[in-house]
Amino acid sequence: MARRTITLIPGDGIGPEVAAAAVRVLSATGLDLEWETVPAGAGAIGEHGSPLPDHVLESIRRTKVALKGPTETPVGTGHRSVNVELRKRLDLFANLRPVRSLPGVKSRYEGVDLVVVRENTEDLYSGLEHVVVPGVVESLKIITERASARIARFAFEHARAHGRQRVTAVHKANIMKLSDGLFLECCRAAAKGYPDVRYDEMIVDNASMQLVLDPTRFDVLLLPNLYGDIVSDLCAGLVGGLGMAPGANLGEELAVFEAVHGSAPDIAGKNRANPIALVLSASLMLDHLSEGDAARRVRAAVDAVLSGGEKMTPDLGGTAGTTEVAEAIASHLAGPAGG
Ligand code: NAD
Repeated sequence: MARRTITLIPGDGIGPEVAAAAVRVLSATGLDLEWETVPAGAGAIGEHGSPLPDHVLESIRRTKVALKGPTETPVGTGHRSVNVELRKRLDLFANLRPVRSLPGVKSRYEGVDLVVVRENTEDLYSGLEHVVVPGVVESLKIITERASARIARFAFEHARAHGRQRVTAVHKANIMKLSDGLFLECCRAAAKGYPDVRYDEMIVDNASMQLVLDPTRFDVLLLPNLYGDIVSDLCAGLVGGLGMAPGANLGEELAVFEAVHGSAPDIAGKNRANPIALVLSASLMLDHLSEGDAARRVRAAVDAVLSGGEKMTPDLGGTAGTTEVAEAIASHLAGPAGG
C-alpha cells in the first residue's frame, strides 16, 4: 500500500509503553506506516493547557485514523474524560470490542468468541450533572432515537458482515421504561431489516450472570453506553483480563483504536504492562485500513507467542516485560512463519 499516516496518542500511565510496543509490532508487518505523535491526557495539561489540545482533533480529522493509549481521568474532580470528549467531538458513535479466548492464556472459559457493541456518545456519559439542592444531585441519562437506531444498525451490519448469527440487546427497560425502552424500540426496528440475524433481548443484570455462567452462548451484544462500559470489562475478565481486550471507536469517517484498559498507574513505568490488548487493537486498525492480510498475520503472531507460553507478562502469570513480548511478536511476524 501507499504510505499511510496514522495519528498516535501514547497517553498516560502505561500508555507510552504499550503504544511503543504496538508501533514496534506494526513495523514488522512491512507496511509503510508513518506515525504522527500527538499528546493527550493528564500529561498534556502541563505543556498544552488542555488534556485534549485542538491539534489532536485536527490531526485525527486529517489522518482519519488514530491508535490511542489510555488516558487518565481524575475521579470525582478535575478535567472531563479525554475519551468521552474525543468520542463526542469526532462523533465516534460505535465502540466495538471483540472478546475471544486466546491460546495458552489461563482462564475459566474456552471458546469465547463474542463482540460487544457499545453506543459511544450519550447515555449517562453526556456529562450533564448538577446539584439540585445541597445533598441532592441529578445526572441526566440521555437516550435518543437517532443514536440508538444508528448503533443498532451498526451491530446488525457488523453481524452480517462477519458471519455472526445473533444480536442480543442488553437493557434495563423494566426500570428505565422510557430511556432504555426507546433504546429497545430502536433495536427491534433495526432487527426487522436483518431477518437473517437472530435477535433477542436480555436485562443487564441477568446478562451479566449469564455471561459469567457460559459466555460461549453469546455472539453480538448490543448495549447503551454505561452497560457497554461495564460489560466490556466483565468480558475482558472472561478471556484473561484487561491486557487481552482490544477495541475500536468508529464513526462514519474517522476511527480511533484503543484497548479497553485504562492507564494502570499501579504498574506504569515498570515494563510490566501487557501490550497485547493494544497490539490487537492495532490489528483491528489494519482491518479498517483494508490491510486484512497484515491484520491476520499480527493476530497469528500474537497467538503463536501466547501458545509458546514463554513470553507472557505478569498479568498472565509470566515474567516477560512489555518490550520482550513486543519483540517476540515482531520476530514472529518477520520470520518465515509470519511472513
Ligand atoms: P485500569 O484498566 O487502568 O486498571 C485496572 C487493573 O487492570 C489494574 O490492576 C491494572 O494494573 C490492570 N491492567 C490494566 N491494563 C493492563 C495491561 N495492559 N497489562 C496488565 N495489567 C493491566 O483501570 P483503572 O485503574 O480503573 O483506571 C486507571 C485510569 O485509567 C483512570 O484514570 C481511568 O479514568 C483511566 N481509564 C482510561 C481508559 C481509556 O483511556 N480508554 C479506559 C479505562 C480507564
